[in-house]
Amino acid sequence: MMHAERKKRSMKNKILRLILGDQLNYQHSWFREQRPDVTYLMMEMRQETDYARHHAQKLIGFFAAMYNFVAFLRKSGHQVIYLQLQDKKNLQSLSENIKSLIAENGFTHFEYLLPDEFRVDEQLKKLSKEINIEVSSSDTEHFITKREDFQEIFSGKKKYLMETFYRKLRQRTGVLMDGDEPAGGRWNYDLENRKPFKSHQKAIPPLEFNHDYKSIWKEITKAGVKSIGTPLDSKFPWPTTRKESISVLNYFLDELLTHFGEYQDAMTSRSWSLFHSRISFSLNTKMISPLEVIKKAEERFRNNPEHYTLPQVEGFIRQILGWREYMRGIYWAEMPQFSNLNFFEHKRKLPAWFWTGKTKMACLHQAITQSLEHAYAHHIQRLMVTGNFALLAGINPDEVDEWYHGIYCDAIEWVEITNTRGMSQFADGGIVGTKPYISSAAYINKMSDHCKGCTYDYKIKTGEKACPFNSLYWNFLDNHRKKLENNPRMGMMYKVWDKMQANEKEKIILQAQKFFDEIKIL
Ligand code: FAD
Ligand code: SF4
Repeated sequence: MMHAERKKRSMKNKILRLILGDQLNYQHSWFREQRPDVTYLMMEMRQETDYARHHAQKLIGFFAAMYNFVAFLRKSGHQVIYLQLQDKKNLQSLSENIKSLIAENGFTHFEYLLPDEFRVDEQLKKLSKEINIEVSSSDTEHFITKREDFQEIFSGKKKYLMETFYRKLRQRTGVLMDGDEPAGGRWNYDLENRKPFKSHQKAIPPLEFNHDYKSIWKEITKAGVKSIGTPLDSKFPWPTTRKESISVLNYFLDELLTHFGEYQDAMTSRSWSLFHSRISFSLNTKMISPLEVIKKAEERFRNNPEHYTLPQVEGFIRQILGWREYMRGIYWAEMPQFSNLNFFEHKRKLPAWFWTGKTKMACLHQAITQSLEHAYAHHIQRLMVTGNFALLAGINPDEVDEWYHGIYCDAIEWVEITNTRGMSQFADGGIVGTKPYISSAAYINKMSDHCKGCTYDYKIKTGEKACPFNSLYWNFLDNHRKKLENNPRMGMMYKVWDKMQANEKEKIILQAQKFFDEIKIL
């Protein structure tokens, strides 16, 4: 644009542009040009700190990442209003702050980036009608698909299927494609990616930072924000800039990716993140983009296929190109009704030890204590330990959602609720997945080293030493027979149950009842 024209535009307009805490896209086209007519707005608000009880590291991480993003904007010559939690002018509500700033500064335009949460989307639509100035929205330029692409891909289909979606995106983006064919002739190497982590094998430590964020934590506690977990404020480990996010990604590509696929379902008490990337916080705040992550991983395979094998790399790419985009698609296709679904009509309360880790069950103890300490558990811990237990124990999905939404530093509703209520709790009756992810202790023993040191015995179904997962598993199947027996993927399990002697079945059901009665002290 010509200088004179830009100047003319800037004299006329006064534009307020909103950036939310999970919209820290350093590469967004908004920031390519310095504009005197534009003021960016970022806010720390009680509206966001209080709508769930968040992990301390999640609160610190978001504020630190926002703070660093403001510094980047100012250094690049942009004007920014940054409302901190304790600022007198901060009305603690997105809408009220914006209305007040418009009145005070005479902004003529309000522009925002499309939010990823339904709640905020609704709030911004409502606000747009209430303020008497021109409003427009733009894409965050982060995701590979647009909100509406999902509906288009599944238009006329009876059921969503991750694999269909994933293959479409492979074709559309050309990722891991050789012409029209998938690289190596196969789309999916999942079956080769299910190895347990053996006792003689060494884990590689994660890349952690040592930020001193005591001042941020002080601000949060002084304001009286309630939180859970260990703050680690003087040795904050998570990346809070784009540069650091890229370092975590490169560390993963250099050191961990060659083991990722193979051991992605393994669990061990010797490492809290094993070979997982720990990039979810950076991705979900948009400090890095999914396509750049995928492209970098593919590049490794293309340049060095002996070292970076296809099953390893495909296993990783599928999580991001497949699962992450798929969950976002489901969120926008199914909200808001999705957040109330409770297919099994589960009503039980989450035991208090989910908030302390004080349980005798070694697998749950590990998954919960590391979540409290690191604001992180990897996928299989979330799905097959905490999620599996909550489902088998008939916990109300509202309570399960509340826990998952608070505890992980990467928990943002669009990806938390689809994973928790959908994939893990099957409360959607099969929108996300095709069957409930449940298992008895045998699976946990196969994939982890937790059972060896446990109070309970993974081999036993009933009696004093019996592992709770065993009787709860069969009790769950028996209880929900009407809803599940016609699912073709569940038939085998019912066959095994039906072959058991009546008195054994009775003992198992009684044992499950005993666990329900004692759930607070398991
Ligand atoms: P890696 O194992 O290294 O995987 C790489 C990336 O793939 C992740 O960073 C993530 O962006 C993506 N990915 C992998 N699996 C999924 C998935 N199922 N859905 C979406 N993206 C995926 N992920 C979140 O980002 N936020 C959440 O709040 C969240 N809640 C979950 C709740 C439950 C009950 C379950 C079963 C899973 C949840 N996940 C969530 C998905 C997954 O567990 C995390 O993305 C992953 O553990 C983050 O760690 P990582 O970056 O080391 O992932
Ligand atoms: Fe978990 Fe049961 Fe194994 Fe204990 S025995 S670690 S409770 S699966």
